Amino acid sequence: MDILIVEDEAEIAQLIQLYLEKEGFSCRICRDGLSAIQLFQDYQPDLIILDLMLPELDGLEVCARIRQKPGTKDPYILMLTAKGEELDRIIGLSTGADDYMVKPFSPRELVARVRALLRRTMRQGGQTLTYHTQHFTVDVDQRMAHRQLDANPAERLDLTTLEFDLLTTFLSYPGRVWNRTQLIEKLWGSDFFGDERVVDTHIARLRKKIEPDPANPTFVKTVIGVGYKFEDASGS
Ligand code: CA
Repeated sequence: MDILIVEDEAEIAQLIQLYLEKEGFSCRICRDGLSAIQLFQDYQPDLIILDLMLPELDGLEVCARIRQKPGTKDPYILMLTAKGEELDRIIGLSTGADDYMVKPFSPRELVARVRALLRRTMRQGGQTLTYHTQHFTVDVDQRMAHRQLDANPAERLDLTTLEFDLLTTFLSYPGRVWNRTQLIEKLWGSDFFGDERVVDTHIARLRKKIEPDPANPTFVKTVIGVGYKFEDASGS
């Protein structure tokens, strides 16, 4: 598993590298946004640790450009931000990042998040699974999700890996009520530590992409005092 670390603060970059290499990952470091794009194409990493504030191109722009590259490997992207630094933009908008951490963070937690992201890839290896409901289709193997609203042609949904996995989890048990702990277990694995409300952020982002009216969701319903459930008639 190859990891690209994009971070202009040399000490932080080296600390991350040290911890990840101790866990057996191979790492490359670069220090600005433009060389990140270049190195991404040459190195084809499985995961990118991407600092938000960078010289040349900032992390959001790097993230957007990497997601737009057709035909190349689609890496997981874990975004790093300093406290208060445009955090709203990262979690509120769909930036294409799969996860984010706020500095200062513990290297141990970073390693846990990296493993959780990469474990999803490994777990998905060899699966050929498709889930259908009336309005949605998820092809787990191809990692494609489609929505078909009445009388419209099916449209492919542009989801981050986390949003994709969240939708897949919902479609695998329509009508089941999930609490946050169960969703975290599904999405990040049991070694997640951090704030459980991160689930709410990803639910909000998923709703924006799949609900006709995200303020009044018809598919991803809040179950007050418990968590969430997905409602859609089962497909044929
Ligand atoms: Ca920085």
